[in-house]
Amino acid sequence: MAHQKQLKRRNSKFPIVRHTGKPSVFTCPDCQGTLFILHEGSLVQFRCRIGHLYSPESMMEAQDENVERLLWSAIRALEEQSEYISQMAQQLAKLTDMHRSGEYVTKSLSSLQKADAIRKLLTDGLSKSAEVARSFST
Ligand SMILES: [Zn+2]
Repeated sequence: MAHQKQLKRRNSKFPIVRHTGKPSVFTCPDCQGTLFILHEGSLVQFRCRIGHLYSPESMMEAQDENVERLLWSAIRALEEQSEYISQMAQQLAKLTDMHRSGEYVTKSLSSLQKADAIRKLLTDGLSKSAEVARSFST
């Protein structure tokens, strides 16, 4: 029964894919599966086991989106870590363990600084990407 559900799910969205290409060193931006290199004449494409298919250009766009999504995820994780450690520091201060509380405050600030550095990288990178895109369109 579970096998039939799995087959229905596969057939409804993606065809079952035969792996005729060579495995590449790249992973699928959508499912993180192995990408196979397909040569059709001079055209090179990448396809994963599930069936996600990329041209060289769409692969680059998908990688850009994947990196940006993961960096925003890292920012969220660092800010959450900072908040948690800050709460721990407050609890330690209430217990008059000022030495450890101070260490936790420093660690909390360090997490926030890392998040800010990644945010700046993303913001600068996005504005530079927009400049490059504008230079190609004019
Ligand atoms: Zn995939």
